[in-house]
Amino acid sequence: MKLQNKVAIVTGAASGMGKAIAERFSVEGAAVVLADLNAEGVNTLADEINNNGGKAKAVEVNISNLDDIDQMIDTAVNEFGTLDILVNNAGIMDSFEPVAEVDDDRWDLIFDINTKGVMRAMRKAIPVFLDKGQGVIINTASSGGLNGAHAGATYTASKHAVIGLTKNTAFMYAQKGIRCNAIAPGAVATNISNSMKNVSQYGSERLKLSQSLIPNVGSPEDIANVALFLASDEASFVNGTTITADAGWTSAF
Ligand code: NAD
Repeated sequence: MKLQNKVAIVTGAASGMGKAIAERFSVEGAAVVLADLNAEGVNTLADEINNNGGKAKAVEVNISNLDDIDQMIDTAVNEFGTLDILVNNAGIMDSFEPVAEVDDDRWDLIFDINTKGVMRAMRKAIPVFLDKGQGVIINTASSGGLNGAHAGATYTASKHAVIGLTKNTAFMYAQKGIRCNAIAPGAVATNISNSMKNVSQYGSERLKLSQSLIPNVGSPEDIANVALFLASDEASFVNGTTITADAGWTSAF
C-alpha cells in the first residue's frame, strides 16, 4: 500500500494508461479522481473501483477547458479532503505530418490538450500543494518528446514542451516540497497507438522507418508501474526527470 491515504487525480482515466494508473493507484490505497472527456468510461471505472472497496469519483473533464479544470481540482478537495498527486495523462496523437504540412487548427487543438491542459492543471493544483507543503506531479510525455523521429511535428513539439514544463516546474517548486516528473512511454497498446497504423498515409518514409524500429509494444500496466514509483515516497529524491519506458526504442536514436 504505497499510496495509503493519498488523493490522486488522473486525467485521461477512461482508457489506456490513465485507466491502468488509476487502477494501480487505487490498489495501492489512494482515493482517485477519474477525469476524462469520456464520462461513461470514467463512471464505469469509478463503479468498478468503489465496488472493489476502493475510493473513486468520476468527473467529466475537457482538459482544455478552464472551468472543467477548476471542477476537477475542486472534486478532489471536496470529495476526499485534499490533493496529493496530479497525473496529467490525457492526450491525443493523430498527427504525423512534417512541419510543411502542419494544419493550424490541429496544432492548436493538440497543444490545447497535450500542453496547455498540463500547464493549466498544474497551475490550479500547485496552490493546494503549497498549502500542504507537499505534492507530486506526473506528466505523461512521450518518447516523441525526446526525439524528432517518433511522431509528427505537432505532437513532437507538444510533448517536448511538456518535458520542458516539467523541468521548470520541478526547479521552481523543489524547495516547496513539490516534485514534478514526466514519463516518456514508447509504443504502448492503447487506443492512441492504433492511430499509429495511419502513419503511412502521411508518406513520411523516415517516420515509417522509426516505427519499424519499435522493439516491443508495452502494456498500459508497464506505464502504471513507472507512475506508481514516481508517485510514491520511494521517488522522494527524484525531481525534474523524465523516465523513458519504451523497451529501448529511444536508445536507437
Ligand atoms: P488513450 O486514447 O487510450 O487514452 C487517452 C485518454 O485521454 C482517453 O480516455 C481520452 O478520452 C482522454 N482525453 C483525450 N482528450 C481529452 C481531453 N481534452 N480532456 C480530457 N480527457 C481527454 O491513449 P493512451 O495511449 O493511454 O494515452 C495516454 C497518454 O500517453 C497521452 O498523453 C499520450 O500522448 C501518451 N502516449 C501514448 C503512447 C502510446 O503509444 N499509446 C506513447 C507515448 C505517449
